Amino acid sequence: MMDKETAKHRAEELRRTIDQYSYEYYTLDEPSVPDSEYDRLMQELMAIEEEHPELRTPDSPTQRVGGAVLESFQKVQHGTPMLSLGNAFNDDDLRDFDRRVRQAVGDGVAYNVELKIDGLAVSLRYEDGYFVRGATRGDGTTGEDITENLKTIRNIPLKMKRNLSIEVRGEAYMPKQSFEALNEERLKHEEEPFANPRNAAAGSLRQLDPKIAAKRNLDIFVYSIAELDEMGVETQSQGLDFLDELGFKTNQERKKCATIDEVIEMIEELQAKRADLPYEIDGIVIKVDSLDQQEELGYTAKSPRWAIAYKFPAEEVVTKLLDIELNVGRTGVITPTAVLEPVKVAGTTVSRASLHNEDLIKEKDIRILDKVVVKKAGDIIPEVVNVLVEQRTGEEKEFNMPTSCPECGSELVRIEGEVALRCINPECPAQIREGLIHFVSRNAMNIDGLGERVITQLFREHLVRNVADLYKLTKEQVIRLERMGEKSTDNLISSIQKSKENSLERLLFGLGIRFIGSKAAKTLAMHFESLENLKQATEEELLAVDEIGEKMADAVITYFRKEEMLELLNELEELGVNTLYKGPKKVKAEDSDSYFAGKTIVLTGKLEELSRNEAKAQIEALGGKLTGSVSKKTDLVIAGEAAGSKLEKAQELNIEVWNEAQLLGELKK
Ligand SMILES: [Zn+2]
Repeated sequence: MMDKETAKHRAEELRRTIDQYSYEYYTLDEPSVPDSEYDRLMQELMAIEEEHPELRTPDSPTQRVGGAVLESFQKVQHGTPMLSLGNAFNDDDLRDFDRRVRQAVGDGVAYNVELKIDGLAVSLRYEDGYFVRGATRGDGTTGEDITENLKTIRNIPLKMKRNLSIEVRGEAYMPKQSFEALNEERLKHEEEPFANPRNAAAGSLRQLDPKIAAKRNLDIFVYSIAELDEMGVETQSQGLDFLDELGFKTNQERKKCATIDEVIEMIEELQAKRADLPYEIDGIVIKVDSLDQQEELGYTAKSPRWAIAYKFPAEEVVTKLLDIELNVGRTGVITPTAVLEPVKVAGTTVSRASLHNEDLIKEKDIRILDKVVVKKAGDIIPEVVNVLVEQRTGEEKEFNMPTSCPECGSELVRIEGEVALRCINPECPAQIREGLIHFVSRNAMNIDGLGERVITQLFREHLVRNVADLYKLTKEQVIRLERMGEKSTDNLISSIQKSKENSLERLLFGLGIRFIGSKAAKTLAMHFESLENLKQATEEELLAVDEIGEKMADAVITYFRKEEMLELLNELEELGVNTLYKGPKKVKAEDSDSYFAGKTIVLTGKLEELSRNEAKAQIEALGGKLTGSVSKKTDLVIAGEAAGSKLEKAQELNIEVWNEAQLLGELKK
């Protein structure tokens, strides 16, 4: 047996060597030793750590083989939201994008062109250089903690080459070869094969047992740092080089382009390479290279204005339309759906496609038993493109919308100005069921374990008729449902109870008030702060709120006028459901006596003590307004280390400039 001191030194040496081999193999793709040598060293290190468990370190390569099995995934709040990108489908869309960009920031724009890897977007948190947490994108604000699974991906460094505290983003994916091998294996064991590498990657990373992920040969390309502008880096392309320096694997098929023509040329080049790449891509990402310009361009509600995803043209296939089914939605809208002979499109099998409404069926002259062309819009949602009229045999049947609701039989109406037919029976079981599914969904009350399947059962068994009934469910009732064990029942009841604590906006969105989406719900909750205040709001007060238009205001007033809705809300409150807003408060400039109140402030460079988000939140809480670019309207520039062009501009315009110490001093007052 090795004495402890010798063991410690040998373990350190082994870790260093294994990490180096690992980096050469997985990140650089240039192994310098055979696999057998790597395995031998790994075995030796495992043996030492087995003998001396106290020598095991969090960044030891042995930590990658998969730890304990989890019961469920913890939710993770992203420090900076993970946004999705707007799409371009052709050159015209790209040129429009370029025009919008140049209108906003002038002609000196360069673009960085990168591959869009078809995998799962993840965020990796490092503290002092150590990998501490990895999460899925989720809804962009909240994801799931999949740290243990991500650790099994060899080219995610457990320790970066510098001791920084940062969050990086990337795309975890399954290489084509691993995907094929995995499906072959699954078929051999009579298991369902995965539809495409993306599903396989997502399925692997959402396994509660990390040992499964460890066997799946996943890989990652990292493409951004959440706090890039704090790193003293000025462009996206420099950011990628910086990630390389830190020991991450970035995709090398990238190029900085000076014009949109050059971008389009590069896209053609990459598209030609697509089939030969060892991984799947579903498009090309184009980003404005300068971070200053990115900040100036800013964001829409959904996506950055400085980036766009070029999507490859969709694959089209021919299949037979077997039938048209009708579905009743949450708001009573009747949607016809095409039932198709199953067919493979862009990697997955498609057997249904929404036909949206009667007008569309008439316009495209879609008949039952027609041969139809199907594609996936934006590569996701199946769509019937057109009918092959010349292939008709005479047995095709025209389709007519019914006059009564397929679920409750009440007469359907067409509201003026709308194409959709609606069931307006408030007791319609289909609408109630859909409303319940919406209430528990991720952006609403976010109740884990309560999906469509369970809701449908609860509804069928008459256990739940409205959202308040959910909070009255007992263990005895739930455990009798199909596929419900002791554990899943307890989990379900506890997540229902936990949802009572949600901040008001989730409840508001969950109620399904017309025109009130999750963003409007948040705006209303933040402004009115309690359900009580909102109930009493007048039309004028509602319209005075930023981003709340007439339709929305009307819908809110109408909703709170209904006696049965007020009763339901009272019942929810009695059951303990929170009706107050719990998020960050919006401070009105006139209510703050702070120095920052009402001032327009720009933050630039790297701050030492505070993160950029913390600084922003604190200044905003005191009534200050932060903007991206320095102009004559700017009152104050706070410059951290390595501040660049914004600082110069501030000096040029004679605008007051503070350093971080001055900022901290003022915040402490
Ligand atoms: Zn109905």
